[in-house]
Amino acid sequence: MRKGNLRSRLIARIRGEGPMRIDAFMDACLHDPAGGYYAVRPGLGEDFITAPLASQMFGELLGAWAGELCAQLGKPVRLIELGPGDGTLMADVLRAFPGPADIVLVETSGPLRARQAQALAGHTLAWVERIEEVTAAAPAIVLGNEFLDCLPIRQETADGERHVAVDRFGTLVFDPPGPVTREWSPALAAMGAAIGALVAKAGGAALMIDYALPGGGDSLQAVRGHQKEHPLANPGLADLTAHVDFAAFLAAAETAGARAWPVLSQNRLLRRLGIEARAAALAKANPDRADLIARQLDRLISAEGMGALFKAACVSSPGLTPPAFA
Ligand code: SAH
Repeated sequence: MRKGNLRSRLIARIRGEGPMRIDAFMDACLHDPAGGYYAVRPGLGEDFITAPLASQMFGELLGAWAGELCAQLGKPVRLIELGPGDGTLMADVLRAFPGPADIVLVETSGPLRARQAQALAGHTLAWVERIEEVTAAAPAIVLGNEFLDCLPIRQETADGERHVAVDRFGTLVFDPPGPVTREWSPALAAMGAAIGALVAKAGGAALMIDYALPGGGDSLQAVRGHQKEHPLANPGLADLTAHVDFAAFLAAAETAGARAWPVLSQNRLLRRLGIEARAAALAKANPDRADLIARQLDRLISAEGMGALFKAACVSSPGLTPPAFA
């Protein structure tokens, strides 16, 4: 795919149909079949590092939590991951999970499905495009890291809803140009409703971890090669995300019948799941890697790393006892 191809098509589309809403622009940049970031060249590791890529401890702790939940549910469960990336998180989860479980991966990206198949070779896997395709036939344990931040948002300015337009020099620009006064995501609310409905009906729980919306303002951001860039600069060549409005997500899940637990920081989540003991045990077993493990621990839980900005939200079926970290 030539650089600029998606940009030229977006410009032509805007010239023909008028300015695009931010959600439509995000959707095209991430998922356009011929030029979208995830559809064509997802740069996990090259453009950004996520918690599972930073350390195996992240997935192992979630796997141990899923294992306890599975024992409580008392039946074979379905392990469902939303946006599994290169498959690292699920591979780490499965190492700590007593299994067996049906594994369902919700993934739209062809290149990433191929990487997931490789990382999880030997396991029985099923892929779906949307969580709505997962039936309530077995209890569901749903996981998602840095998935909700990919869902398209809408933005408002004092002069009306923000769109992407083309100026007289042929450059993509925000229109109206003024600052964003409000941001919301019908797609995030729909996802909350779908996840809430699934766990309420099937039994089980979902744990979603992501960048949280600190409140107000404009959180649309593009990242490429570990650097932030202007969200309109390179359509399809950068990861485009928005911070997650967890309150809106949880409200939608509750309306759909699930129970919502208080949002907590990644630091609290991982400490309550026992990351310090896990790091100490790993360092003891691998003394030559002790420094590395200490750095990974710091990255996952420190406020300068991922500990404070990232939050975790859990929803469960109404009858379940509170999760270990609640
Ligand atoms: N969870 C992984 C990857 C995060 S990147 C990790 O933590 O490393 C975001 C992931 O969500 C990718 O796998 C991407 O292809 C997927 N994704 C983005 N939007 C999606 C959508 N609407 N439906 C399904 N998967 C989506």
